[in-house]
Amino acid sequence: MMETREFNAASFNKFLSEKKLMASQCKKCHAMYLPPRPLCTHCYSSEMEWVGLKGQGTLTAYTVIAVGPTFMVEEGYDRKNHYCSGIVQLEEGPKISARITGVDSKKPETIKIGTPLEVDFLEKGEGENKKTFLAFRKRS
Ligand SMILES: [Zn+2]
Repeated sequence: MMETREFNAASFNKFLSEKKLMASQCKKCHAMYLPPRPLCTHCYSSEMEWVGLKGQGTLTAYTVIAVGPTFMVEEGYDRKNHYCSGIVQLEEGPKISARITGVDSKKPETIKIGTPLEVDFLEKGEGENKKTFLAFRKRS
């Protein structure tokens, strides 16, 4: 069945809550966008379709963050408990920034560019407030 949801962040997040990593792909030139875009920046076509990604990728850049935004501080991350944020190059081509899990943020020197990663869906909150965040964890 064809997905007909709008190509925006709300749809992308809805897919995340269904544990799906979805990109938009231009029907004309096949450029892929993650997060999804409604308009192709290569050929200016607005004919997009949803494509599901396998969620396999590699780490191409990262930072270990000691002083994060409020919602991360609320999760218990601070100057003593760092977390890792990175850019993931997906097998299908696009890159996306996400939380990186399964790495030792206390020892950033052990985190390597090129580390194989797979998609992880982090669920926070309960009931109506439940939100799903995109993360990638180290593939073992
Ligand atoms: Zn295009």
